[in-house]
Amino acid sequence: MSISCPKCGVEVSGPPEREWRFQQYQVSRFRCERGDKFNFYAGANRTFTIPRPIDNRNICISCNTDNPAEAVYCKNCGTKLHNTS
Ligand SMILES: [Zn+2]
Ligand SMILES: [Zn+2]
Repeated sequence: MSISCPKCGVEVSGPPEREWRFQQYQVSRFRCERGDKFNFYAGANRTFTIPRPIDNRNICISCNTDNPAEAVYCKNCGTKLHNTS
């Protein structure tokens, strides 16, 4: 398994700084070689990082649904998205 920094895309190797459990996820705190810190969530059905990779961040502020980058309105609740890209 390889994990990339969501901010700069550099692949991170080596042990995490911390590990803990959050609900059904195993969370690992990593720090990339450029000094960015991020959390890697590993669950039974999916894995993701917090923060998300910048180039596809389009999260609904109302319901937290992850929408496609080109979406203008949330596919789940219809809230207007604030696309940061
Ligand atoms: Zn980085
Ligand atoms: Zn929504």
